[in-house]
Amino acid sequence: MVDANRIIKEFWELVSIDSVSGKERLMADLLIKKLTALGLEVVEDGAGYKVGSDTGNIIGKLPGNGRGPLLLLCAHMDTVEPGCGVQPLLEEGVIRSAGDTVLGADDKAGITTILEVLRLIREKQIKHGGLEVVFTIWEEGGLFGAKNLDYHLLQAKAGFVLDSDGPPGTIITRAPSQDRIGAVIRGKAAHAGINPEEGINAIQVASHAISLMRLGRIDHETTSNIGIISGGKATNIIPDSVTVEGETRSLVASKREALTDHICGVIRDSAAKFNAGVDIVTETLYTDFHLEEESLPVRLAVKAADNLGLTAKLEKTGGGSDANIFNSRGIVTAVLGIGMKKVHTTEEYISVEDLTGNARYLLEIVKAAQEEF
Ligand code: ZN
Ligand code: CA
Repeated sequence: MVDANRIIKEFWELVSIDSVSGKERLMADLLIKKLTALGLEVVEDGAGYKVGSDTGNIIGKLPGNGRGPLLLLCAHMDTVEPGCGVQPLLEEGVIRSAGDTVLGADDKAGITTILEVLRLIREKQIKHGGLEVVFTIWEEGGLFGAKNLDYHLLQAKAGFVLDSDGPPGTIITRAPSQDRIGAVIRGKAAHAGINPEEGINAIQVASHAISLMRLGRIDHETTSNIGIISGGKATNIIPDSVTVEGETRSLVASKREALTDHICGVIRDSAAKFNAGVDIVTETLYTDFHLEEESLPVRLAVKAADNLGLTAKLEKTGGGSDANIFNSRGIVTAVLGIGMKKVHTTEEYISVEDLTGNARYLLEIVKAAQEEF
């Protein structure tokens, strides 16, 4: 029933259009056209204005023609860099980029899947309880589209984000929360050769702090990282300022909070030890979620996998996605594996088998929802 050639063609079309974060306009215009042609009522919200993108989130609604719950289906329109001028190649059943850009299967494989399912629903008049399709802007590096979405436009109470690695049948039921930590350490400038005793070396303060931090994998559900350090002007000047930026994540909020406190505490102690000043800003970027096996999306996804003879795998992830935001907004949302590989690298690829498998699987999920009521 799923049309492999049509899927490849559409995926090809989508990855060939530039849509790096904040510049999703061309993609949005194309998707508005496609959704409208598929019979959906389409609106663009005002998120673009709020986050500084050239388009808002695209929301398409397909009224139900059958029983079953209203379902949210989401994928993001943006890609990471280098993402402009993608030239896809199909070799031995695998689609990759020419090697100088990402492919953008993250997340255009998700968009392709949703479009193919909408097309099959229309062609075969498949019964469903109503679909709300959301194509978000600027997911990468901040989930800004989902965070600024106009939730008044949505009625669905459950759904799926198609945006994980792992083959069709992979169901992400747990994802972490994340804090961002930014610290500016203020030392005192002095000439390194003439009066070093009058200086306070901000880089040394930062180094001391970092050497005492618990970083990397803390336990099976908790991680932390210092990812950016910048400061200093010349080798003959004792640096008076350095910026340290990092993050903490955990599937358990209290563990993330404790780790953030630890990192901030170490920075403050180190600053005090060296008589330096410090400003620290922390922000919780998104909260964690943990879906029950009895929750609607997990039930539907497991049932659909069983129906197709796929292995349903309930998994946790260390990454955040739009699903973190939807769940915090009361829309119970699972993330589905869509077979994308080596994402965020120029070696990113996806197999045609997974691209078509995704459509088959999502269609089966929509059908499984019919038996819910
Ligand atoms: Zn993604
Ligand atoms: Ca991504």
